[in-house]
Amino acid sequence: MTPRAVVLIYHRVSDRPLAPEEGDYVLPPSLFEAQMRGLAAGRRPVVPLESLAEGRYDDGAVALTFDDGCESDATVAGPLLVSLGLPAAFFVNPALVGTEGRASWDELRQLAAQGFAIGSHGLDHTLLDGLAPAELERQVAGSKREIEERLGRPVDALSLPGGTGGERARRVACTAGYRLVLGSRPGAFRGKATDAVLPRFALRRGHGLEGFRSAVERRPFFVLRQQARYALTLAARCLLGTRGYARLRARRLDRDAGRT
Ligand SMILES: [Zn+2]
Repeated sequence: MTPRAVVLIYHRVSDRPLAPEEGDYVLPPSLFEAQMRGLAAGRRPVVPLESLAEGRYDDGAVALTFDDGCESDATVAGPLLVSLGLPAAFFVNPALVGTEGRASWDELRQLAAQGFAIGSHGLDHTLLDGLAPAELERQVAGSKREIEERLGRPVDALSLPGGTGGERARRVACTAGYRLVLGSRPGAFRGKATDAVLPRFALRRGHGLEGFRSAVERRPFFVLRQQARYALTLAARCLLGTRGYARLRARRLDRDAGRT
C-alpha cells in the first residue's frame, strides 16, 4: 500500500497573540512543547519536506511547517526542535521579515544553518485568488528570488498565503522552480507530494493535545470536522469577499475574547 503522511501547520507560539486577528492560531509554548515532546518520543517518523517531495517516507510520517515567519520560529520553536532533533520548514514573507513580531534575516539565516528549510509564504501575505498575472508572478516568483538572495540558498517550497491561489498559483510556482506547493485544505496525502497542492492540518490552541493526536493519527471524525470547517470558511470567503470575511472573523474573535 502507498504510504500516507500528514503535514501540520503552526503559526505563532506565544502566550498571547500579537494582533487580535491571529486569534486561536497562536499556541501557548507549554502546549507546543508537549506536542513536540510527544512526537519526538513516539514511533512516527518526522520527516523533512524534501522526503515528501521525493516520495521517500514511511506510512504515518509527519512533517512540521510554520507559516508567517513569526519571531517565535527563532526564539521558541527552532531551539526546541533542535534539542529534540526534529526537522521542520519555516515559511516567510520577505516584505515582512524583521517587522514587529517577525523573525529577522539573521535569525532565518541561523535557522537555515541549523538545517531547517526556509520557504516562501508570498511576498507580503497578499491573498493570491484573483490577482492579475504580473502581481501573482511577483508574489510567487519574486518572493522566492528575494529569500534566495538574502539567505544564499535555494527555496524549494511555497506555502499559499491563507491557502489561496489554488491550481493557478501552483502552475506559476512550478514555472518559477518550486518543487512543493502547500495549501490549507485539511487532509492526509499519499505518494509523491509534487503533483498537487499539498493538504495540511492547521493546529489551533483549542485543539489541545487531543486534537494534535487526532491530526497526527488522521482520526476520521477529526479529519471530517476539519474539512467541514474549511469548506464553511471557503463558502464564507466566496460569499462575503476577502474583506467581508476578515470583518466577520474579527467579530467572532471579539466575541470569543469577551467570553473568556
Ligand atoms: Zn499565513
